[in-house]
Amino acid sequence: MAIKNAYLLDLLERTKKRNPAEPEFIQAVTEVFSTLEPVIEQRPDLVEAGVLERIVEPERQIIFRIPWVDDKGVHHVNRGFRVQFNSAIGPYKGGIRLHPSVNLGIIKFLGFEQVFKNSLTTLPMGGGKGGSDFDPKGKTDGEIMRFCQSFMAELYRHIGADCDVPAGDIGTGAREIGYMFGMYKKLRNEWVGVLTGKGLTYGGSLARKEATGYGLCYFTNEMLKANGTSFEGKTVLVSGSGNVAIYACEKATEYGAKVVAMSDSNGYIYDKNCINLDIVKRLKEVERKRIKEYVNEVPTAEYHDGCKGIWTIPCDIALPCATQNEIDGESAEALVKNGCKVVSEGANMPSTPEAIDVYLSNGLLYGPAKAANAGGVATSGLEMSQNSGRISWTFEEVDEKLHNIMKSIFKACDENAEKYGMKGNYMAGANIAGFIKVAEAMKAQGDV
Ligand code: NDP
Repeated sequence: MAIKNAYLLDLLERTKKRNPAEPEFIQAVTEVFSTLEPVIEQRPDLVEAGVLERIVEPERQIIFRIPWVDDKGVHHVNRGFRVQFNSAIGPYKGGIRLHPSVNLGIIKFLGFEQVFKNSLTTLPMGGGKGGSDFDPKGKTDGEIMRFCQSFMAELYRHIGADCDVPAGDIGTGAREIGYMFGMYKKLRNEWVGVLTGKGLTYGGSLARKEATGYGLCYFTNEMLKANGTSFEGKTVLVSGSGNVAIYACEKATEYGAKVVAMSDSNGYIYDKNCINLDIVKRLKEVERKRIKEYVNEVPTAEYHDGCKGIWTIPCDIALPCATQNEIDGESAEALVKNGCKVVSEGANMPSTPEAIDVYLSNGLLYGPAKAANAGGVATSGLEMSQNSGRISWTFEEVDEKLHNIMKSIFKACDENAEKYGMKGNYMAGANIAGFIKVAEAMKAQGDV
């Protein structure tokens, strides 16, 4: 959607100048600005309070050195990041990404998105994000542990249960959170819920592992219901085969859909008879193998090299759950051509602006990431509550709260889209609902 408002265009230009060579961050800001026009026209007070100028500038950005030694005694140095974007409505909250592609611009786009997403969850959480250009693939447990300890040896001074609470993301799962938590506890000599996604034996929440994927399907189910349809009998593509993808596949299947494809960064599998998730879970969660191994166990399935091909498989619903910009305009066109009617995002910003234009101009139901994948951070918020109260809820209790949160997120997207004249545009509804709460809080707290 094109931005026409002169003030927003000018601020976008200034943001681009101030943040050169950060295309993902600029992409995320542009998308949000493209939907805020009717809000700022009705709320000049927010413009006068300088809220927009402040919202695109992180409160704090920390960049640090992470030295570590591999099993052969060779020294390595990685770069660590923590961007504390906005604390207007609660402590900074957002995951840690470990992937060789990580740089400041990627962490800033993720932190910026997180501000609005956390606002949508209805819980008191500000936005932040962190990570490193470390590649966990092929590393031993000992190497992962030494890296995580070195990462935390710097990060611990900047975070805290009431200040900044990191969590998992790409490359950071329960193992990495465990090593980071252990180091934080040793350095601070205190046991607090400073990280979420912890193991169940030391303060983790039941249903956190499942939360992003399940939440994605709860949101998508609400969107389908509101448009007179359901998951039942639908053919679904799920990209990725990590934490989000696995539990999205599980819940979509429970809802009666048939998931026929999954992927990793090397390629994708197509199983026309329906993906056997037990095999995927064992390969990815236990054995840490590549997705192509699936066809050794299910000879009727196909494996194809490359990630883009997955979007050429005929489907009713696409759930991108791997990484940013994984669906470009061409892939979006292929989806539409082959019958896809719904795209709902488990990954952060998986669709390029061109892809989003294709969805909107072809009348697809589009569930934007900051609403559709908010179940993970929402359940992290529930983990923080349990840690502070020294209590543990059952799986069913957490799952029910998650389900209700996702329903309320969909309602907020739906109602705000309609209220601001963009009925059915859930991307606009999500951006507006997330923005207004943070903006009101920033205005109320003065120029800080
Ligand atoms: P994981 O590390 O568990 O899994 C990531 C999956 O995506 C893997 O299958 C990985 O393949 C694939 N992938 C990663 N990079 C690429 C790439 N460049 N091209 C193609 N495939 C790729 O991460 P998560 O499942 O936790 O995260 C997936 C997405 O969901 C991310 O965008 C993340 O920010 C987002 N998200 C995660 C939340 C969570 O709670 N975990 C919460 C909200 C959003 P390979 O193994 O080959 O690298």
